[in-house]
Amino acid sequence: MLAHYGPQHWWPAETPFEVIVGAVLTQATAWRNVERAINRLKQAGLLDPERLADIEPAVLAGIIRPAGYPQVKASRLRALVGAIRRDFGSVEACLRFEPARLRAWLLSVPGIGPETADSILLYAAGRPYFPVDAYTRRLFLRYGVLSAPRPYEGIRRLVEEALGPDPAVLGEFHALIVAHGKAVCRKRPRCGACPVRAGCKFWAEGVGFEPTMGLSTP
Ligand code: SF4
Repeated sequence: MLAHYGPQHWWPAETPFEVIVGAVLTQATAWRNVERAINRLKQAGLLDPERLADIEPAVLAGIIRPAGYPQVKASRLRALVGAIRRDFGSVEACLRFEPARLRAWLLSVPGIGPETADSILLYAAGRPYFPVDAYTRRLFLRYGVLSAPRPYEGIRRLVEEALGPDPAVLGEFHALIVAHGKAVCRKRPRCGACPVRAGCKFWAEGVGFEPTMGLSTP
C-alpha cells in the first residue's frame, strides 16, 4: 500500500491540540466535515485549550456544527479539555504522561472511546498505539487477516505485535488503511483496481463484490 499510495503524512494537523480536537470531531463523520469545523474554530480563535474549556456549550456547538452531532461533540470537547486542565494543567503535561496510564485516563473521560483515545495517543502523544477503525475491520476481514470479527483490543494488539513499537510505522499503516478504504476497499469494493488484490482472500475466493458486510464506512 505504501508503494501504491505513498506516505500519507498523518495526522493532518498543525499542533497536538489540533489532533486532540480532530480526534473527537471525527467520531461518526467524514474528515472533510471535520476540516470545516476545525477551520471555523481557527477563525474564531478557539483552537486553544484555555479558550475552548471556557466557551459556552451552545456557542461551541454552533461553531463545530459541520462535524455533525454538535451538542454531543461540544460537550465531549469541553469535558476533555476541562479534564486535561484539571488533572494535568496543560496539554503538554497530559501528553507526556506514562502511556498506559494516559490511555486509561483518556478512556475515563466521558465520550472518549478506544479509537479516539488511541488516535490521540498515537498522533498527538507519539505513543505506539494503533487506532482500530471501520476501514481496518473491513480490510482485515476481507483480506483474511481475521477469519471472524474480533473485539477492538484484540485487533489493536494484533497490529501492534506485528508491526512493533514504532509510532511512525503504526501511524503510516493506519493512514494507508484509511486511504485504501476510501480508494478501493469501499463498502462496494473496487477489487479490479486494488493494488493488493494478489494477497486478498476476498479476491481469491472470487467474491468480487459484496454489498456492505454490515459496515457503515463509505
Ligand atoms: S481485493 Fe477487494 S476486498 Fe481485497 S483488499 Fe482489495 S479492494 Fe479490498
